[in-house]
Parts: sequence; C-alpha cells; structure tokens
Amino acid sequence: MIVVGVGLAGLVAAAEAADAGRRVLLLDQEPEQNLGGQAWWSFGGLFLVDSPEQRRMGIRDSVELAWQDWTGSAAFDRPEDHWPRRWAEAYVHFAAEEKRAWLRAQGLRVFPVVSWAERGGGAAHGHGNSVPRFHVTWGTGPGVVEPFARRVRAAVEQGRIRLLFRHRVDELVTSGGMVTGVRGAVLAPDDAPAAGPPRAPWWATSGTPPKR
Ligand SMILES: Cc1cc2nc3c(=O)[nH]c(=O)nc-3n(C[C@H](O)[C@H](O)[C@H](O)COP(=O)(O)OP(=O)(O)OC[C@H]3O[C@@H](n4cnc5c(N)ncnc54)[C@H](O)[C@@H]3O)c2cc1C
Repeated sequence: MIVVGVGLAGLVAAAEAADAGRRVLLLDQEPEQNLGGQAWWSFGGLFLVDSPEQRRMGIRDSVELAWQDWTGSAAFDRPEDHWPRRWAEAYVHFAAEEKRAWLRAQGLRVFPVVSWAERGGGAAHGHGNSVPRFHVTWGTGPGVVEPFARRVRAAVEQGRIRLLFRHRVDELVTSGGMVTGVRGAVLAPDDAPAAGPPRAPWWATSGTPPKR
C-alpha cells in the first residue's frame, strides 16, 4: 500500500494499515522535520458530538443536531455530493460514538472545557456549529500528532513501513481503471528547519529526537 503525505491523514492511514498487516510505503515531498504536516501547527481542536465534556458543561448535543448544523453549511444538494454526504454522515456518527474512546486508546486527552469553533446559530443563518463542539487536545497540535508519529516510527523500525522524504508524487499510475502506483521525482535533500518556530518542545515531550 502506498500512502502519500505524512500529515495527520497519512500518519493515521499508514499506522492503521501497518497494524492491520499491510506493508506500507509512506512518501512525502517535504523533509522529515515537517512530519505531522498542518496538524503539528494546529490548535488540536477535535470535533466531538454529545461528549462527556459537553454534558458536564450543560451543552445539549446530539447526532441529529450536529447533522442539521453540518447540512446547514454543506447542503449536499448536487449529484456529485453523494459520497461527500455519505462520508459526512459517517463522520458525525463517528464523532458521537467511537471517536473519543478510540482517541483515548491512542493516549489523547482533551481539556475539560469545550469551546466554540466555526460558530453558528443566531446571526449565522443556519451555518456552523449551533453549540460548542471544539475539544482541545492536551498538548494541542503536537499532542494530536505524537501518538501516530510514534506508531509510524515503531513500524518503520520493524520494517512494516518504508518512509521516504523528499519524494514528490506527480502522477497516479492506473491500470484497468484502478490506481496501481505512483510516479514522481526525488527532490534534493533539504535540512532547512520546518516553517515556524523550532519543534523542540514536541520532541522533548515525546522523547523521540528528530533524525536529520
Ligand atoms: C494553524 C492551523 C490551525 C489549525 N487548527 C485546527 C484545529 O484546531 N482543529 C482542526 O480540526 N483542524 C485544524 N486545522 C486544520 C488541520 O490541521 C488540517 O485540516 C489537517 O492537519 C490536514 O491534514 P492532512 O494530513 O490532510 O494534510 P496536510 O497536513 O496538509 O499534509 C499533507 C502532506 O502531503 C504532502 N504532499 C502533498 N502533496 C504531495 C505530493 N504531490 N507528493 C508528496 N507529498 C505531498 C505534504 O508535504 C504534506 O506533508 C488547523 C490548520 C492550521 C494550519
């Protein structure tokens, strides 16, 4: 299996596939110091629905309300919206059901205070979240990335994931209507620090020094 990108989506996909017994090739055009992609810089706010944290704060939430909020913005009213709609439905259920427990099993914990993000209701004319659903992870973005980076690194050490940086994918190779591979370019090494402030705090807390 080939996974393109070591942002959060790629890290999670590669870790899950490797733990399910697949041999994984994980590629990214950026150097290793960008592991985690945007999620590393993010606030680590997680969308959860009807969580214990919300209930403790007296916030009344439900799958139905979250779905109403989501469709208030997304509409999903075109034929090509079929799969995005199905994905969104599955995601709202995931956020109300196993997501929190699954993330806790990975070691993630959230602040006891739930905040607003993409605030809706009132003057938002049916768009956005009508109740607070933004659950901030302890350790913010780096705290979200860390468990998955750790799983990927363990799989790399065990030979279950091959991880290549500075490999840019330019094309999907298809055969019989199926994607069977990728084609691209190997870029020159780049040891420039990741954009933004140094990443020392994350490496210090994870105990995993960056390999340069
Ligand atoms: C400052 C900031 C704060 C945020 N806060 C939150 C928040 O609180 N809550 C929330 O839910 N979301 C937040 N987000 C959004 C969230 O972080 C992103 O949606 C998420 O991290 C995207 O993950 P990704 O893996 O899909 O993409 P990315 O992190 O963008 O990773 C994509 C990876 O693919 C690689 N790549 C791309 N094209 C190629 C190619 N052709 N060949 C090889 N490699 C390639 C890139 O180099 C990159 O490493 C925030 C984002 C930012 C920037």
